[in-house]
Amino acid sequence: MKLNYSKKYSRRVWSIKNARFLHEFYKCFISLLRCVKPILPYLPITSVEKTVKGTLFDCQMCGNCILSSTGMSCPMNCPKGIRNGPCGGVREDGGCEVIHDMPCVWVLAFDGNKKINADMKEYQPVLDHAKVGSSSWLKDI
Ligand code: SF4
Repeated sequence: MKLNYSKKYSRRVWSIKNARFLHEFYKCFISLLRCVKPILPYLPITSVEKTVKGTLFDCQMCGNCILSSTGMSCPMNCPKGIRNGPCGGVREDGGCEVIHDMPCVWVLAFDGNKKINADMKEYQPVLDHAKVGSSSWLKDI
């Protein structure tokens, strides 16, 4: 499906196109962090995560990252905050029904998922608000 979206979302679309590379890179990166675990408390991991993921995914630091289960499309960019698949209002061109020039994060997720073969049927629990603002990278270590 050819999406008609505003250029301001092109970084998200780039990340979906490169989902396999980003997914594999992340696995290597986490292995590297595990090797330097003792010094992690002295490194600005949360700030780096916020900058990198903000640039690539428009991450909002929900602290409950599920990018690996959503084809590298951040579900927190859904204006309805839906973390378990699209609502019934996706437009014919794949756009969001709330923000018309934005591609639906779940349409992007299905595209990205074709590249990383994640289990999108896996149920995602509701957001744990106590973790908002914390590092998801550190939780994966
Ligand atoms: S799921 Fe949460 S941590 Fe992951 S990219 Fe989206 S806002 Fe950031």
